[in-house]
Amino acid sequence: MKCPECVTDNPEGAEFCSECEKKLPDSPPSTQETKPVETESRVTSPPPKSKGSG
Ligand SMILES: [Zn+2]
Repeated sequence: MKCPECVTDNPEGAEFCSECEKKLPDSPPSTQETKPVETESRVTSPPPKSKGSG
């Protein structure tokens, strides 16, 4: 793995660069998919007020 900072060749799995000791960008083996959060709460409008004469 090459360091993006000093472009030093680091051993695979290295978390930090052995030259500049910078944090190496780790690439996750598996992708993580996120699901949209669905809100259950629903806004209910109040019933129409009707004025009854009488
Ligand atoms: Zn480096």
